[in-house]
Amino acid sequence: MSQKPWKSRPDIMNYSRFINAVSAARRVSPIRALTELQQKAPPTLISLAGGMPNPNMFPFETASFTTKDGLNITFGTDTMKRALQYSASAGIPELISWMKDLQKSLHHPPTVNYDPEQGQMDLCVTSGSQEGLSKVFEMLLSPGDSILLDTPTYPGTLTAINPLGCKILSVSSDQHGMIPQSLSDVLSKWKPEEAKNPDSDIPRVLYTIPNGGNPTGASMTADRKREVYQIARKYDLLIIEDDPYYFLQFEKPWAPSFLSLDVDGRVLRTDSFSKILSSGLRIGFLTGPKPLIDRIILHIQCSTMHTSTFTQLMVMQLLQHWGKNGFLKHVDSVVEFYSKQRDAMLSSAERWLKDEVDWHVPSAGMFFWMKLKGIPDTFQLISKKALQKEVLFVPGQAFMIDGSAPCPYVRAAFSLSTPEQIDQGLQRLSALIKEAV
Ligand code: PMP
Repeated sequence: MSQKPWKSRPDIMNYSRFINAVSAARRVSPIRALTELQQKAPPTLISLAGGMPNPNMFPFETASFTTKDGLNITFGTDTMKRALQYSASAGIPELISWMKDLQKSLHHPPTVNYDPEQGQMDLCVTSGSQEGLSKVFEMLLSPGDSILLDTPTYPGTLTAINPLGCKILSVSSDQHGMIPQSLSDVLSKWKPEEAKNPDSDIPRVLYTIPNGGNPTGASMTADRKREVYQIARKYDLLIIEDDPYYFLQFEKPWAPSFLSLDVDGRVLRTDSFSKILSSGLRIGFLTGPKPLIDRIILHIQCSTMHTSTFTQLMVMQLLQHWGKNGFLKHVDSVVEFYSKQRDAMLSSAERWLKDEVDWHVPSAGMFFWMKLKGIPDTFQLISKKALQKEVLFVPGQAFMIDGSAPCPYVRAAFSLSTPEQIDQGLQRLSALIKEAV
């Protein structure tokens, strides 16, 4: 018998342990499967099978875009017909392949050469990382299950998890993100062997934002990631690495990701083009073990069907023009902008808020997480008084598991305002606090 080309695994993951009944019951849509077959077929194929509309009846003929660096991207009539047509649920093949190469070169995932059934790295395109995230939660969580996460956290995650009826177990965090000791403490209620017992209520899923956390701006150190990964191995947890601010890390070398540590195939990683190419085009990526990515693609088949072919082709043409180096050069210019914005917020905070507010300087992302001294709850202050002073922040309770508990924090974004506006905004916050205490 010829040997398989795949690398043998240290420990085999049992993915069926993680998939809930709804996800396990998903089957391939026969029409979708045909559509995908048809796209791989030679042009001589006469297909009377699919239900695709005739693109000659679409009103759009051509399109052309000009980039800020002077590139002209043109969709001729043939490309335009493709752009306007249905496409594969996993994403257009050339974008999948480009992104897989990028993931390999940035993260060197140990899983790249594993057997496909045993956790080989795979990837699909999603309509923003939010689609990937919400589908991952819907694949893994059932009512009564527990999920571990560090709070405060992204409200888009909380609103996706809350209706699923599971328990959120809060792990403490600081300016370096999730604290491994706190994770061990939360898990100490269970014995690791319970992971083998299907009736145990031991948590199976851990979620974290490793870089430039929303709202905290916190970034995990490589050591913490290694420790958390080892705990995940001990308790057989899947790690959801939600990393939309990966490309907004202000210092190089960029931190190694959980994906780069993933010898087992237990990491599901969400990436996003929202902060670096466009948030409105809705392009994100989900990377992880093939058996789980396959389940997500089945879900995409029966929900959005696929991310817009038009926007995928638009992005793909740009990436083909740029190449990997051009893409990373663009990322550098975005980082330069945000890091100047961060510096502007820092110097204004030092000017106006030194005595009234505590903060940590973020090394990635778009946010400062500010603790207002002497203000036990920022909700009233922001919702009632801030608008009168013509300034707005997100009250901290929006990022908490218990959104009704008082919270002394606000989230301040440095992404959109000019340094002058940031300065004025923080001056107004200072006045607001002084009036309130
Ligand atoms: N995760 C986090 C932590 C975020 O802050 C965001 C966007 N605000 C998302 C996911 C979703 O991003 P998108 O769907 O635009 O990729």
